[in-house]
Amino acid sequence: MASDSGSKAPPVVTRFAPSPTGYLHIGGARTALFNWLYARHHGGRVLLRIEDTDRKRSTQDAIDKIIDGLDWLGLEFDEPPLFQSDRAERHAEVARKLLDAGHAYKCYATPEELEAMRAEQRANKQPMRYDRRWRDRHESEAPEGAPYVIRLKVPTEGETTIADEVQGKVTVRNAEIDDYVLLRADGTPTYMLAVVVDDHDMGVTHIIRGDDHLNNAFRQLPIIRAMDAIEGGWPDPVYAHVPLIHGPDGAKMSKRHGAVGVEAYRDDEGVLPEALFNYLLRLGWGHGDREEITKSEAIELFDLDGVGKGPARFDIKKLQNLNGHYIRAADDARLAAIVAERIGPEADIALLTEAMPVLKTRAKSINELVEGSAFLFAKRPLEMTDKAAALIDAEARERLAGLSKMLHVQNDWTIEALEATTKSYAEALELGLGKLAQPMRAALTGTTTSPGIFDVLVLLGKEESLARIDAQALPAGTEEND
Ligand code: GLU
Repeated sequence: MASDSGSKAPPVVTRFAPSPTGYLHIGGARTALFNWLYARHHGGRVLLRIEDTDRKRSTQDAIDKIIDGLDWLGLEFDEPPLFQSDRAERHAEVARKLLDAGHAYKCYATPEELEAMRAEQRANKQPMRYDRRWRDRHESEAPEGAPYVIRLKVPTEGETTIADEVQGKVTVRNAEIDDYVLLRADGTPTYMLAVVVDDHDMGVTHIIRGDDHLNNAFRQLPIIRAMDAIEGGWPDPVYAHVPLIHGPDGAKMSKRHGAVGVEAYRDDEGVLPEALFNYLLRLGWGHGDREEITKSEAIELFDLDGVGKGPARFDIKKLQNLNGHYIRAADDARLAAIVAERIGPEADIALLTEAMPVLKTRAKSINELVEGSAFLFAKRPLEMTDKAAALIDAEARERLAGLSKMLHVQNDWTIEALEATTKSYAEALELGLGKLAQPMRAALTGTTTSPGIFDVLVLLGKEESLARIDAQALPAGTEEND
């Protein structure tokens, strides 16, 4: 494991700070993953903060979905989640400290005044920004008891540079940063204040998040630096702003590209958590040209220098291929349990576990495993797909009848023995094995795709196999009468 040996850098603390919006976005999941891996790689801690200040959207259900999704991906956190909404008093306390020390000021501008200001800026084609009208005024100029907000007094001179671990050096002129609101007239903190205070109080050393927050970093740093000047102990965090995920067309990944919630990949696309873990890791981070990287390898290899500067494109095919790889690598009993849950009460886990080695050879999703195992639990009379029904013509029915006779007297119900019997029957008919296997498959599974036909016979057992074959075969004795 790498370490920051030699330097006196504090132990790494990262955080994932989702705003509950109803699901865990795959972009959010990737941010969580990168934070988790960075902390694990450096022997640090990773924390979870639920940014639930938007009370309308932050329902318990939305919060549960995020926590569930993270848990499913195998991203555990080192402390119970912190809820931002619990901390409004602390946020207000910091705003007051900034105010008392002259790093913030009261602004008494009314909403109407601000609207008029914006209208004028619009008309003059100026940037729309608070014009700092109360920055240098004394509060005695305000009407008695008038409501006010607290605004940050951002330095107007000079510039701020962030040495971002992904974006490199980025510089912004301080004059471009507005004196934004820290505390609203009703005493509630704004998002920008809450994030900074929480990151500090949680001891966060590294902020790894989407690059849509890079502008926010330039607005958040003045709070950090002002607080450091006031009381010390507010070091600049290390920033790493990761390019967002794009869809195949190059536009920011959104619902129109397909599912964006982790839950949909689990429930609808049938993806295994380790496959999504691996895929999200490779989405924007690389180590040579390696595609398949397990969790423990990822912990060993992950660092911010492997994060790409350009947006990664979401490629569902790659995810499906990785999923196929992890399905083949997965324990059969575990897969059987997952599949059984999808199928419902009629599923037989022991049978599914036995069938799994042949079911999983080509499957790229849990859904394909569910479909592929349907024949095991199908009830007679079997429902037939059109293609399967078309294979059972008069000739096929006669051949199935002949095969059935031979199989009825077969006691050794193993792949090898069944194969030998079927082959000798096909040879006697001067038929290729395929010509016989097709109607057999149709009769046994009701479909035209299934695992190898001898596997199917063994999995179904003698009694069920013969019942299915006989249901399609010409009834015994009919041959002579025709
Ligand atoms: N809550 C913010 C979001 O979900 C993240 C804030 C941050 O990482 O600083 O986009």
